[in-house]
Amino acid sequence: MTADQPICCPTCKGVLPGRQRSDYTAARGRLVVVNGYCQGRCPAPAPPPRIQVPAEQAGSVRQPESVPAL
Ligand SMILES: [Zn+2]
Repeated sequence: MTADQPICCPTCKGVLPGRQRSDYTAARGRLVVVNGYCQGRCPAPAPPPRIQVPAEQAGSVRQPESVPAL
């Protein structure tokens, strides 16, 4: 399975133009009525910053050694 093109623009929530006939579905048509079309000039949203996980933490899935009693 290939990565599907998102139906809506992540920036303006407008519907992106379909690439093929099968992209035009009833659900998509309803979205066009609600959100309209994306103008295609929206800047791509900034990718979320990658959080660096120290290898020490990434490898440990153990429970904490001391659990305070409630
Ligand atoms: Zn857009």
